Amino acid sequence: MVYRITVSYHEKGAFGMNLNIVCIPGDGIGPEIVSEAKKVLDQVADKFGHKISYQDILMGGASIDACGEPLTQEAIATAKAADAVLMGSIGGNTATSPWYQLPPHLRPEAGLLKLRKELNLFANLRPAYLYGELKEACPLRDDIIGSGFDMMIMRELTGGLYFGERSTKEIDGVMTAVDTLTYTEHEIRRIAIKGFEIAMKRRKKVTSVDKANVLDSSRLWRKVVEEVAKDYPEVTLEHMLVDNCAMQLVKDPKQFDVILTENMFGDILSDEASMVTGSIGMLSSASLNDTKFGLYEPSGGSAPDIAGKGIANPIATILSAAMMLRYSFDLDKEADAIEKAVKQVLEEGYRTIDIMPQDEKKRTDVTQIGTAKMGDLIAERI
Ligand code: NAD
Repeated sequence: MVYRITVSYHEKGAFGMNLNIVCIPGDGIGPEIVSEAKKVLDQVADKFGHKISYQDILMGGASIDACGEPLTQEAIATAKAADAVLMGSIGGNTATSPWYQLPPHLRPEAGLLKLRKELNLFANLRPAYLYGELKEACPLRDDIIGSGFDMMIMRELTGGLYFGERSTKEIDGVMTAVDTLTYTEHEIRRIAIKGFEIAMKRRKKVTSVDKANVLDSSRLWRKVVEEVAKDYPEVTLEHMLVDNCAMQLVKDPKQFDVILTENMFGDILSDEASMVTGSIGMLSSASLNDTKFGLYEPSGGSAPDIAGKGIANPIATILSAAMMLRYSFDLDKEADAIEKAVKQVLEEGYRTIDIMPQDEKKRTDVTQIGTAKMGDLIAERI
């Protein structure tokens, strides 16, 4: 993977960057939400003196319809040559779409799994941030929420239990299933380095989550994380057992900054953390490899139930674009500007349908808008 960013002197007098971004609009609401993220990125480029070029590739159902497979080699090559990838979502209605009559390796999701593998994306980042304006979507008590919380779950994505050898066979007349949890020092070290790097851009605290009282893999995890921590003296490291972490996430989520953990623990904890923030339409995510390259996408799916209606919430994709600027391009000021603009639009009372207050009486305090209007308002406030 070649990491290629060209820096040029922009006519406005600032040092601007040339960013080569591959977009995967995908299926369902994907194309609608990606075009709003592009709108906001274009505004950022204009304001801060950068040049962004986009190239779209097909993946998922759109690629099955056009090319007979969920991701072509040509699309993979295009993605590999980019500086970063911005994705909407893929897939259709799993009960009714003809895509799901195909064998598993030809279905939409197979395209995403292949892309993640080809790009060696081993680190998954999912922020869990509670906006004050959306507090009522949080199922936790007011005294627990306090002034809100802001954490980043960093999950190892390509090792551990989900990728170990497995078997189910009869042993001495009893059906026996075996799954294997393997981690190498190398796999732990590279995700730990990512975790500490991300913490350096945030509040400089890492909570490494494991089950070191039981599992050998966790004891190695803890040892390697402690070694990596020595290179980041400004970052505070704490260890927490996974069962305790599951409790602490609902008891006192404010205590967390970066949660660093292995694949299966991260799968479960990131869903728990996202639940306490409210709507799926607000949740961004990133998957990174060991360069600055990343794939950025909303946490939600293609929402076939609302596709084409112009009502999907584009904020998760717009915030994913902000993550791209911060983590792939080190453009922190630009990322801050997007996050501030999102906050401002929410403060001004604009909501897509999914984040409208549940309470009828509170609905009069806010204005319901569609996908494109939300993109416009955020772009205007950059
Ligand atoms: P989903 O996330 O697409 O939808 C669940 C619910 O959340 C729906 O009611 C939907 O309308 C709503 N929702 C999701 N995103 C929204 C947004 N931005 N704004 C407003 N509402 C939103 O989950 P699903 O229905 O289980 O899956 C639909 C398809 O998406 C399936 O084919 C699934 O495999 C696929 N999927 C893709 C990805 C991905 O591309 N990474 C992730 C998850 C699911």
